[in-house]
Formats: sequence, C-alpha cells, structure tokens
Amino acid sequence: MTQRHRKTNSLLSRREFLGASAAAAATLSGIAAQPERRLGIALVGLGNYSTNQLAPALAAARNCRLAGIVTGTPAKAARWREQHGIPEANVYDYETFDRIADNPEIDVVYVVLPNSMHAEFTIRAARAGKHVICEKPMSVTVAEAEEMIAACRQADRQLAIGYRLHFEPYNLEMKRLGQQQVFGPVKLINTQFGFPLRDRSAWRLQHALAGGGPLMDVGIYCIQAARYVTGEEPVAVTAQEVKTEPEIFQGVEETLSWQMEFPSGCLANCATSYATYTERLECCATGGWFQLRPAFGYGPLAGETSQGPLDFPHVREQTAHMDAICRAILDGEPTPVPGEEGLRDMRIIEAIYRAARSGSRVEV
Ligand code: NAD
Repeated sequence: MTQRHRKTNSLLSRREFLGASAAAAATLSGIAAQPERRLGIALVGLGNYSTNQLAPALAAARNCRLAGIVTGTPAKAARWREQHGIPEANVYDYETFDRIADNPEIDVVYVVLPNSMHAEFTIRAARAGKHVICEKPMSVTVAEAEEMIAACRQADRQLAIGYRLHFEPYNLEMKRLGQQQVFGPVKLINTQFGFPLRDRSAWRLQHALAGGGPLMDVGIYCIQAARYVTGEEPVAVTAQEVKTEPEIFQGVEETLSWQMEFPSGCLANCATSYATYTERLECCATGGWFQLRPAFGYGPLAGETSQGPLDFPHVREQTAHMDAICRAILDGEPTPVPGEEGLRDMRIIEAIYRAARSGSRVEV
C-alpha cells in the first residue's frame, strides 16, 4: 500500500465510503446485483450536457437506459435515433411531448433545457405520469420550484434534481469531513465556481431563458457545497456584484460574491463569475483544513487535507447520479436528490440577489 493510500484510508474507512453512496460504491466495487429492469429515460433538450455527458453516461448505466428523446430539431432527432438506436415511436418534439403519457417504454423524463423551461416541462412530464429528473437550477423562481414539487406530488411521481456531486467521491469526502467534524467544527468556507462566457447569443446571458447569471448556473455548486459540508442551512446572506462589461452582461450578473452565515457560526465566502475561470472549495476547521481544486467539474477532481493528499477513484458522476435516482424509483424509496433540495437552493439564490440589489443583509 502506498503512502498516499494509507493517508486516505486513515481519513475514510472503506466501509464508511461504501455507506456514503450506493451508486458510487457500485462503480467502485463492481459487485452490485443486476437490477430486474432498467428504467427508460427520455432526454428533453439535446444540447451540450445531454450530448456530451448524459448520453454516454446512460450507455454505462445499470438501472436505466436512453429510451427516448424530445427535441425541436428534426436533424438532431435523426442523428440521435441512428446513433443510439432509438425507435421512431420514442421521439417527440415540444408540441407532441404530452403524448409521452401513452408510452410505457418511458419511465423517467430528464429535463435538460434552458432554466426557464424547467418548470413547464417538469409539470407536463408529471401530468403525463412520468418520474422527473430536472437539471439545476431546478427553476428560475421559488414559486416555480414549489409548483413543480406540488405537481409531482399530485401525480405521485418522483422529482429528482441534477445534483451529480452527491454521488462523487471527493465531494462526499468533503461532506463527511465537515459534517463529522473530523478536523473540528468548520469555521470558514471559501468556494468559487466560474468560467468565461462571452458569446452574446448564448441563452445563459438572456435573463428570460436563464433566470439569472453565473449564480444560477455554477454558483449554485458553491451553495450546495457549503450546505453539505456544514450540514446546515444558511440563516442570512450578504452579496456584492461587479460588472465591468455591461454591454455583454446586460441581462445577468457578471461576477458576484456573497457570504452565507450558518447557525453554528460558520461563514461561507463564495464567488461566481462569467468573466474568469475559478473552481475551488476550501474548508477551514479549528483543527485542520480540507479542500478540492478542481472541485465541481466532471473530474478528475483533486483534493487534500492538512494531513495529506486525497486519492479517490474517478467515477462518471452522471452515471452514478442517474443510477441512484432510478434505483430509488425501482425500490419505491425516496429519491436521494429531491425537489425540496432544489427548492432550498432557490430560496438562497433569491435571497442572494435581494442582498446584492439592496446592499443589505438578507435573512433566508
Ligand atoms: P445547451 O444550450 O447546450 O442545450 C440546451 C438545449 O435546449 C439545446 O438542445 C436547445 O436546442 C434546447 N432549447 C430548446 N428551446 C430553447 C430555447 N428557447 N433557447 C435555447 N435553447 C433551447 O445547454 P446545456 O449546457 O446542455 O444546459 C441545459 C441545462 O442543463 C441547463 O439547465 C444547465 O444548467 C444544465 N446543465 C447541468 C450540468 C450539470 O453538470 N449538472 C452541466 C451543464 C448544463
């Protein structure tokens, strides 16, 4: 055993890690039992994330498979049908979408559209009797998020959010080190996620489609991390916005920093930006520190603690995420990343925007 592995094992026993995520564990150990049936997933919106992450991830999944597509572009439909062997009967556009109700091969609808379309398609999917996975941010307002949860509850269908890092070993380790206070109580969290976006035609820069800027898009990962490291909900936020290129960032924020106060006294200093790359999570506790950099991407991620480097296997986060959600559906268990989890983030996001606009401390 290498020095590196010995250090890792002293921080996290194999049993603890296996308990932390059944999906990640299945990938690690390769011993998970084959399920009786794989759920059919229909992807709604065949853009970057569906094409480059979800479709390949579904090809490797144990509990689900790519069964259908919903797209407004006929040329894309033809390409996807050929590439993934999807029968014509399982192809829908945004108008014919509701007929998915009559298709027994589709169990789950996965909404991968611009943010402002999430609520409509989640609610339509639930009314069609399908379970839903909805990408982050789950909506563009708190009110919409509540409607989505209510629609899925009324239809007795599960609503899961695209929080893939709940199934990623390095982030699970940050959560464990923080919540179990392995280095003592966490007092300070520094976390950032941003990337440069200058394409003026991008829907991410149009408020009507995106609902907000980098906070909604990637800053949400910082909110998530601060919440799963502390295991607490923030009580109040303050925020500051900087805009250097208003002609590009007309509808959304360019760079935003914010602070979240947690009940235990932990303070999270967070920032997000469409002006620069940044991706880190640093957690400072009374007896040591632990951090990830990069922290939130598709991997490989890297991390260390004040005791030494962390060394976890790289897992395909999207496969682990969808497998875990579908395992829960197959078993009749609650989803591990429910709509309520997305709603909590939406409440915090609205508070952060209010704080940035007013310059005041806003209670969540
Ligand atoms: P994208 O622009 O690459 O794809 C969006 C898709 O929506 C395209 O196929 C486009 O044709 C379709 N669309 C339908 N109506 C549209 C309209 N009016 N305007 C623009 N596009 C329209 O975007 P993406 O990066 O795939 O993001 C889609 C969703 O997935 C977003 O909510 C995003 O936050 C989320 N996402 C999540 C992750 C993650 O790691 N969980 C990563 C990337 C994106």
